[in-house]
Amino acid sequence: MKVENLSKTYRTKGAPPVQALRGVSFTLPDTGMVFLLGRSGSGKSTLLHILSGLESFDAGDITYRGNRFADFSERDRDRYRNSCCGIIFQDYSLITELTVGENIALALRLQGERDTDTRVRHALDQVGLSGCEHRRVTQLSGGQKQRVAIARALVKSPRILFADEPTGALDEQTGKDILMLLKALSKERLVFVVSHDRAFAETFGDRIIELADGQIVSDTAPAAQEEAPEPLPDLPARLPLGTALKLGCRNLLRHPVRLAFTFLLSFLSLAFIGISVSAASFNEVDAYVNALYDQNAELTAVYRYENYESGSTGSAEIIETMLGINNDSSRPIAITKADIDLLEATVKTPVAPVLATNVYSIQDNFSSSSAQEFVDKINAAIIANPNDHFSITPNGYLQIDEELLQFLGYQLTGALPQTPDEIAIPECLLNAFMVIGLRENETDYPITCAEDIIGHTINLKLVLENTSTGQTQPKTITGVIDTGCDISCKRSHAIYQSGLHNMRGGEHYHELLFVCEGYLPEYNYALITLPDERPTRTALVRLVADSTNGQEFLRLSNTFSSDFYHGCLSATLLQNLCLYLSAIFFLFAFLLLINFISASVRDKLQQMGILSALGAGFWENVKIYTGSALLIGAALFLLSSAFVPLYVSLANAFITYYAPTSPTLISVTFWPFAAILLIALAATFLGSFLAMLRYRKVAPAEIIRRGQN
Ligand code: ADP
Ligand code: MG
Repeated sequence: MKVENLSKTYRTKGAPPVQALRGVSFTLPDTGMVFLLGRSGSGKSTLLHILSGLESFDAGDITYRGNRFADFSERDRDRYRNSCCGIIFQDYSLITELTVGENIALALRLQGERDTDTRVRHALDQVGLSGCEHRRVTQLSGGQKQRVAIARALVKSPRILFADEPTGALDEQTGKDILMLLKALSKERLVFVVSHDRAFAETFGDRIIELADGQIVSDTAPAAQEEAPEPLPDLPARLPLGTALKLGCRNLLRHPVRLAFTFLLSFLSLAFIGISVSAASFNEVDAYVNALYDQNAELTAVYRYENYESGSTGSAEIIETMLGINNDSSRPIAITKADIDLLEATVKTPVAPVLATNVYSIQDNFSSSSAQEFVDKINAAIIANPNDHFSITPNGYLQIDEELLQFLGYQLTGALPQTPDEIAIPECLLNAFMVIGLRENETDYPITCAEDIIGHTINLKLVLENTSTGQTQPKTITGVIDTGCDISCKRSHAIYQSGLHNMRGGEHYHELLFVCEGYLPEYNYALITLPDERPTRTALVRLVADSTNGQEFLRLSNTFSSDFYHGCLSATLLQNLCLYLSAIFFLFAFLLLINFISASVRDKLQQMGILSALGAGFWENVKIYTGSALLIGAALFLLSSAFVPLYVSLANAFITYYAPTSPTLISVTFWPFAAILLIALAATFLGSFLAMLRYRKVAPAEIIRRGQN
């Protein structure tokens, strides 16, 4: 090794520059024990660090077997340290997170060795620490640490062994033993020992170089031969991933409270982001279609609404408006022929226009002596047959033909009405007639089955929205239609359960009378059969959603109708609320994680420096610090995303608080998972990688020094 005119000046901000080495030149042999003597501060450690590739220099050059330091790439320098040098630091520089055995094994692992046990044991035997491999470094005395440091340096049988004051912390006898060991090792390699002990140097040294004030003042054998040129051994420093992650995780666990606290806060923030993203992925059309499926609905009604100026000045309304409860200022109006055509084109199934009105006039055709008798008989029948459905006031007229009947799957007894004077009745009305009997032209007829009522005539009044009176007209019953509507509300137009007035403690159905085509002068709503295919249902819901044009719009109606709209309102409210809050939480989680991770990297600067000194390159350190940071990120992702269904139900709970019977509006999507994963990994990766990048070009000795401060 040839050193030519080497100079080094330390420049620290706010302090005068220190010239540690001034034009040092010498040549070192291949083997033998060379002592570097000098008083404290004379530049010995600086020279040793430069020779072992731990420190940069300002001027001059070093040539090792024909390889010039000035030409070294980052990788060459790592290779030189890893495969040529064994370094014994003045302050030991052991990795406190690892045991004695692991510290020594690390040097071997960096050289790609897998099976390290025998050589580690042998190295410990050599320094008189047999059986100590499992002890913690922190439990050792100064002398013991010194010997572990020596064992770590010699375990890989380096070409050159650098030792900075190796006997400084040892008693005289142990010091002698160590120097004898180094002396024996110097038969096959160069051993370069920094010392201030002249007696030892004179006893053991083959050559003594003396430094004072950064300059060589004496050299006992200046005429050493330069070694023959030889390329650097191609030994890439590769730390096995398992070892790297183990070390990284132990580092993070060094501050368990800080780790737990950061983890908890990040988890909560990510959880909130999960809620927000779930809420943000709410889509009214999807929600509605889902709701239709949830309800197993076969039919639904389409209404046309118009907005109106609320002219009401009642005190209750004013208060409600102030509280924002009463913001519904729309009312149903007649649906148009164009609407029905459009709906028919969309659902591609028959659309039935309906005129909704309560047909009270039928009550005159029941054969009861008094109103009380009428009510008593019906109530008794309901109690006796709780599963039967009775209706005495149908809620409107439905235009029906053979095709629609088939399509709806209704069961017809008798025939469909063919003229405006004919009518078919629903089975629930027949049930009522069977209990009370039919009165026609002052004559009472008992009714026991559908056939009994067919052919009889009842008086009906067609009542329109805006005309409270209408002409009562006789209608001949041609048939009875079983709509399949049962009181458990599970089928067909049980979805029109309106929950208004009722005879059965809360349940009331829209039951319809059936009239012939063209009979109705106008319609209130259209009854449509829901197609089975999801795309068609979506097309229908979208048609309705897009129908809003200024003053008028279409609206789908079923049991959850008003709740559904309230639910959608709160889902949108939640969406907006979360949008702002999640931005804050996103920043919080991101900064918290970046800060924690980069702080833990900075915390471990000394370790990073030691690893570099042992020959681990930048990317090996990335494995340790970024690797373990990403593990934290992954753990956070797994934990936070495991709860995504919970966040979704929380969001839904928020909605159902305002709209108690609304269906599940928000569903689990892919997005919250993606958002959590991205944030957790990006923050942990950036936090560690950026922190490390700052030290990529810094010499290992300098990194260790910064880690100590
Ligand atoms: P020795 O090992 O012989 O005691 P050093 O090589 O450690 O001496 O130091 C040589 C000189 O360089 C001393 O004056 C010391 O104060 C100075 N020095 C060493 N390291 C630094 C540093 N990182 N920054 C500034 N000055 C330093
Ligand atoms: Mg020193």
